[in-house]
Amino acid sequence: MIVSKGYAAQTPETDLVPWSFERRDVGPHDVEIAIQYCGVCHSDLHQIKNDWFPGIFPMVPGHEIVGKIVRTGAHVKKFETGELAGVGCMVDSCRTCENCQDGLEQYCEKGNVGTYNAKGKDGLPTYGGYSNNIVVHEDFVLHISDKLSLSAVAPLLCAGITTYSPLRHWKVGKGHKLAVLGLGGLGHMAVKFGVSFGAEVTVLSSSANKEEAAKALGAHHFVLTSNDEQIKAAKGSFDFILDTVSAKHNLPLYLSLLRTNGVHICVGAPTEPHIIPAFALLMGRKSVGGSGIGGIAETQEMLDYCAAHDIVSDIELIDIKDITESYERMVKGDVRYRFVIDMATL
Ligand SMILES: [Zn+2]
Ligand SMILES: [Zn+2]
Repeated sequence: MIVSKGYAAQTPETDLVPWSFERRDVGPHDVEIAIQYCGVCHSDLHQIKNDWFPGIFPMVPGHEIVGKIVRTGAHVKKFETGELAGVGCMVDSCRTCENCQDGLEQYCEKGNVGTYNAKGKDGLPTYGGYSNNIVVHEDFVLHISDKLSLSAVAPLLCAGITTYSPLRHWKVGKGHKLAVLGLGGLGHMAVKFGVSFGAEVTVLSSSANKEEAAKALGAHHFVLTSNDEQIKAAKGSFDFILDTVSAKHNLPLYLSLLRTNGVHICVGAPTEPHIIPAFALLMGRKSVGGSGIGGIAETQEMLDYCAAHDIVSDIELIDIKDITESYERMVKGDVRYRFVIDMATL
């Protein structure tokens, strides 16, 4: 086994603390990555707190991982020691179901293996990126360009692909009016991709002070959702709404902002179900869809696109000792737009 050190939640009620643990040895198809940076995703906190399902404890969170390959198994073909590499939200899947065959490992019919808070095929718990190293099968490891700031690349592995994938799936681009609901970790990436793909991008937010920030990211317009006049003026105007909000919100209101045939795409995950009257959909032939992260091939495509177009996340680099305080600030939305842990501080 390989000795690792990181930060773990021992229970859902306690703060993260330093913890030593073991990872599997590097198998013939595995690589070992020395982690340099790991993004802090809101879902890390949801999982520590058992918000979605009972977790596996101790839990080492983190699924926005970048670093350097330090060891490769005998049969590894895609990576060499010394190369930059990344790991996102999953580290394995069944590989044989229809979705896996189609490059949609995130929707594996047997369930993908999460980077943490999951059990691998060996039955052992997986531990995430708030740690100094990770061992992953090469098929679930991404190539990272050295052209971009490595710490700012980390959030692309979750926030980036979560917004890139639906925009690609629905072919959002030139001639489309795209609204991005919520301007946090996901929302700011959605704005960057939407603008880059040629769409006319509007940020919908309940905070007036986000207007300047939205425009600075390249958004063309801003609608303050608490302002009735602005909402009225936006009725029936968008082809797509990318909904990144994970708190409870009024979906029928946003559906009224879509044009005929418009699509409301959920990527945020509120704990309470949405309530949608049929009339909000059938008047204007509207749809509500959803999308979860992206497959491995598409994640690589996204990373390559970002390298070619100079797109990274806006981040605030933190010391791992400040993780609890960073969670508190993240919950309040007091971060532009993603915390990233500098693993040299471990
Ligand atoms: Zn995430
Ligand atoms: Zn599968």
